[in-house]
Amino acid sequence: MADRSPPSLPDLPILQFEEKIAETVEKNPVVVIIGETGSGKSTQLSQILHRRGYTKSGIVGVTQPRRVAAVSVARRVAQELGVKLGEEVGYAIRFEDRTSERTKIKYLTDGVLLRESLSNPELSEYSVIILDEAHERSLNTDILLGLMKRLVKIRSSKLRVLITSATLDGNKVSNFFSDCPVLNVPGKLYPVEIVYSRERPKSYLESSLRTALNIHVREPEGDVLIFMTGQDDIDKLVSKLEDEVLSLEEGSCMDAIILPLHGSLPPESQVRVFTPPPPNCRRFIVATNIAETSLTVDGVVYVIDSGYVKQRGYNPSTGMYSLDVVQVSKVQADQRAGRAGRTRPGKCYRLYPSTVYQDEFLDVTVPEIQRSSLTGSVLYLKSLDLSDIDILRFDFLDPPSHDSLEDALKQLYLIDAIDENGSITSIGQTMSELPLEPSLSRTLMEANEYGCLSQALTIAAMLSAETSLLPGRSKGTEKKRRHSPDLPDGSGLGDHIQLLQIYEQWDQTDYDIGWCKENNLQVRGMLFVKDVRKQLCQIMQKAAKGALDVRTSESRKERRDDYRNLRKALCVGFANQLAERMTLHNGYRTLGFKSQLVQVHPSSVLGTDEQGMYPDVVVYHELITTSRPFMRNVCVIDMK
Ligand code: ADP
Repeated sequence: MADRSPPSLPDLPILQFEEKIAETVEKNPVVVIIGETGSGKSTQLSQILHRRGYTKSGIVGVTQPRRVAAVSVARRVAQELGVKLGEEVGYAIRFEDRTSERTKIKYLTDGVLLRESLSNPELSEYSVIILDEAHERSLNTDILLGLMKRLVKIRSSKLRVLITSATLDGNKVSNFFSDCPVLNVPGKLYPVEIVYSRERPKSYLESSLRTALNIHVREPEGDVLIFMTGQDDIDKLVSKLEDEVLSLEEGSCMDAIILPLHGSLPPESQVRVFTPPPPNCRRFIVATNIAETSLTVDGVVYVIDSGYVKQRGYNPSTGMYSLDVVQVSKVQADQRAGRAGRTRPGKCYRLYPSTVYQDEFLDVTVPEIQRSSLTGSVLYLKSLDLSDIDILRFDFLDPPSHDSLEDALKQLYLIDAIDENGSITSIGQTMSELPLEPSLSRTLMEANEYGCLSQALTIAAMLSAETSLLPGRSKGTEKKRRHSPDLPDGSGLGDHIQLLQIYEQWDQTDYDIGWCKENNLQVRGMLFVKDVRKQLCQIMQKAAKGALDVRTSESRKERRDDYRNLRKALCVGFANQLAERMTLHNGYRTLGFKSQLVQVHPSSVLGTDEQGMYPDVVVYHELITTSRPFMRNVCVIDMK
């Protein structure tokens, strides 16, 4: 039985402004609320509006840029209200909907709300929409800002929109919404002493470790929050800390608990950071920038800031993604420091000199819309049929570059989603209804024509799994994949076919969990894939408005045919993502509108081919620059 007794509620700053907030929301369709991280925006605003009767006429929806925040905050609010999660309070993230008919307060990712507006353009079931964490400037939140501007006009007095932010320049958003009111919720923030390093350390990981140990030995009690860039360095630091902190001479120190915190942790582990430590025990929380503003961890007194963040970028002129470790902005560094001052005066150790902060850090983080591929967003906007809107002139808070809009239009044209006039085609319309990137949606539609939809659904689901499924295949790293002897190898046809074969083999064991474990496959990830596959099949059924052919092949010959058809379908979906072998350069040349030299990512099954039997032509899922430009997830089109 779930524990339904409400927890004791903290005295959050936002609660003192309940009257003022209610009054302002009553009188204004759009209100901007600026409040320090931890002031209670995410957990309390929805409850305030619920108390004030806004859930009588509809749902109070709160968007979050991150999946983990949507889940975690919904869980917390359900607990505070003493209700079961998924009933009055629920959440919806891509491929996971925990809401019911009774849901009145709904946390959802910004992407899910965009998707809902496809089937219900006026979002009429919502009485209030709160765009939370707007300072993160996620691509989807930026698009929602533009849509909300239209929606408040269309739904006039029936919709209330709140935009909240920890750091955002309130006036800019207020100007965007015809000078709507801005409420400031002053937070209780104790002074934080900033300690700079004299120089940039050779390794921020080592330097974080030393700093953490120093704090543990020298400083009075209080938790330590350490900002790392990603799961890889978090795992490394956690294990080093475990070795070193725990082996410090017994009795000379207080106890220690070491906790990782990042987006792909299983929910049980995420919850652990919200559980207060036992007395005389210091927690070390090693986190990504998820702890910067999205999740507030209480009890932190010391912050260690590496000054770096992992950021995904996209170059529209090359079609190349990059996952770069970049310097944080001043705003981010200040947010990180602020985490140390919520309970009492704290300290922030910056592992860089003050001159780096002053001279090198950007003032604010570049919004995602200016560093992302816009293909999915442009298809989305096209599918809304906003006849009064020209995409190139959509009302953005900060417009994307002309190049990236053009790039998106070109990509969409190549995969038949728009015609030569830029109008959405019926293929494009169906594609937009699938919660996948446009190329994958297109592949599914083509596979349906070729009679290999069942297999294509499996591949799409495997590629959509957020966590890495295969051993040694973790995202963003260049580790060689450790081959599990029992796992299929793609029959020399590449990664997509390998992913398909793995799933099929699992299917034959009747989804045996033991089999996943024996083969080093992530059980949670595989179960997720199974569920996603089922959902995609249902969505596809609806979107294609016709009978689907989801038979599975029994004989070897049939399977061979399927592989062939699948590769054809991938060529259509990824028409702009082909590459041909360059014998001289030991690599490939992309055949897109900008040709460039790339290599097969070492995590690929093809990359492990020691005889160098690389195929002549391949289709790739994405181009990514880490140390060099690579093609990731590669499928063979033509063999030598
Ligand atoms: P803000 O949105 O202004 O940053 P939040 O509403 O997220 O503030 O946080 C308010 C308080 O609720 C914080 O003390 C935070 O630790 C607590 N809190 C938020 N989510 C959870 C959770 N899932 N479990 C326990 N406590 C939580």
